[in-house]
Amino acid sequence: MTEKGILIVLSGPSGAGKGTICAALRKEMPNLVYSVSMTTRAPRVGEEEGVSYFFRTKEEFKELIAEDAFLEYAQVYDNYYGTPKSHVMKLLEEGKSVILEIDIQGAMQVKDRFSDAVFIYIVPPSLDILSNRLRDRGTDATDVINKRLSKASSELALAHRYDYIVVNDVLEDAVEKVASILRAETCKIKRN
Ligand code: 5GP
Repeated sequence: MTEKGILIVLSGPSGAGKGTICAALRKEMPNLVYSVSMTTRAPRVGEEEGVSYFFRTKEEFKELIAEDAFLEYAQVYDNYYGTPKSHVMKLLEEGKSVILEIDIQGAMQVKDRFSDAVFIYIVPPSLDILSNRLRDRGTDATDVINKRLSKASSELALAHRYDYIVVNDVLEDAVEKVASILRAETCKIKRN
């Protein structure tokens, strides 16, 4: 019988560097599959359909909610974000490990359904550094950045609900820490 893959949940405030860490991890651990989420937000410059996200209208998203097509979904800022269920379940059954980069609301839904998933929270070294990173990224308007900062400070208080917390100060170190966690998890004898 094929051993089931590990479901890994990576969360953290916008600007903490989750996306960059995921991209680096995929190079280091090519067997890891990154789940592409669905969202109702507009694509940012450079984002591609089916690679960054599956971009859908709110109506289409709500239809999929009614069809129970999501493993988890949440309303983040003014948009919906969700993990398409069937693809992830198939990969896990095939023994592949899957990484979900999702917000804390979604992570808590996954926790209720998959007690053996691994939860990693990425944090910036400080809120000041987070604020600078969001501004330097230049992808969001000031009001959006402010919303993201206030969400970040309330979310940081919930980091204890994760299994691991990784401070993303030096990118390579953070990637190495996450990779070490995943290597250890694949060797674990007894999963919860
Ligand atoms: P962004 O708009 O910056 O791409 O993402 C905003 C937030 O939505 C981030 O915290 C990101 O982790 C989260 N997010 C992305 N995809 C999903 C998803 O499928 N489900 C949930 N719950 N959150 C997601």
